[in-house]
Amino acid sequence: MDGAHNQVFLPSNIQELFTTWNRFPTAVPVAGGASFARRQDSRCTLTLPADILSLDGLNELQRITRTERYIEMGAMVRLNDIINLGKIIPPVFTQALKRIAGPELRNLATIGGNICHPVLRLNATAPLVALDARYELRTSLTARWISAARFSSFSGPLAFNPQELLTRIRIPLEQWNYSLFKRFADTYPESETGGALVFIARIQKNILTDLRVVFAGETVIRDKNSEAVLSGKHLPLDRRDISHFIELWRAFLSGIDTPSLMVKARMLNFVEDAVMELAD
Ligand SMILES: Cc1cc2nc3c(=O)[nH]c(=O)nc-3n(C[C@H](O)[C@H](O)[C@H](O)COP(=O)(O)OP(=O)(O)OC[C@H]3O[C@@H](n4cnc5c(N)ncnc54)[C@H](O)[C@@H]3O)c2cc1C
Repeated sequence: MDGAHNQVFLPSNIQELFTTWNRFPTAVPVAGGASFARRQDSRCTLTLPADILSLDGLNELQRITRTERYIEMGAMVRLNDIINLGKIIPPVFTQALKRIAGPELRNLATIGGNICHPVLRLNATAPLVALDARYELRTSLTARWISAARFSSFSGPLAFNPQELLTRIRIPLEQWNYSLFKRFADTYPESETGGALVFIARIQKNILTDLRVVFAGETVIRDKNSEAVLSGKHLPLDRRDISHFIELWRAFLSGIDTPSLMVKARMLNFVEDAVMELAD
């Protein structure tokens, strides 16, 4: 490795970024920098990496494009810019972004930074998994697409290869008539009592055609078996079908180690309330 430490690199395009990253492999990509801020005794302190690879000058990561089937946004799009797109954005995703801190922070923080927190699965993760979003990951030589579920699913490191950058997020534009987002912690960073749960449903001609329930906290959780029990049912839902769904969820949660018992109990309450709204 050449050069001194404590440097800030400001590449103006992706090629330049990877050239710099190859020369300084320990440099860390920094988007809005919000995750490097810590609250200490009511003061806010910044702990920045020794070598910073600023993504700020990469215009290609700030674009938003739309087709009939999906919306695609660069990793450097700010959270408020997504919220301001309005109705085109699936409601559960907007709800999740609006729950992140205050408007000042949302003007600074990016969607890529929220997805790529090295340890926490932050607000954007559960909705993006539920919506079947896909992420483009690039190195100097490769580009690949990965589902949000695979990228974030395990606790610990994300599914990055060495020196890989999140560049684009693609979200299918499907109609979800019923969308709920619930966070289990009011403070950031989250403790083990944290995490977020989403419940989305598609209803067509009074039939529940699709249902997805996803939790993201210490890890990402989804139980497709219980979802299948209600898919295809007429509304209002039958109470026996709802009980069956809840029992499957309860059994699923008791069979997994994380999250904590308290979070599991809160998840079950939320899922129960959400599904009861679809009963008579
Ligand atoms: C006071 C405060 C309150 C907050 N409250 C909430 C909250 O309620 N809910 C919530 O979800 N979050 C919350 N956050 C966290 C914040 O929303 C996220 O950390 C933020 O979205 C990160 O965005 P950023 O652009 O600042 O990313 P950065 O802090 O710059 O980066 C975050 C991480 O992602 C990596 N990274 C960034 N972009 C890329 C990329 N394109 N490819 C690869 N790696 C990348 C960085 O190396 C870093 O490890 C809060 C933060 C603060 C300071």
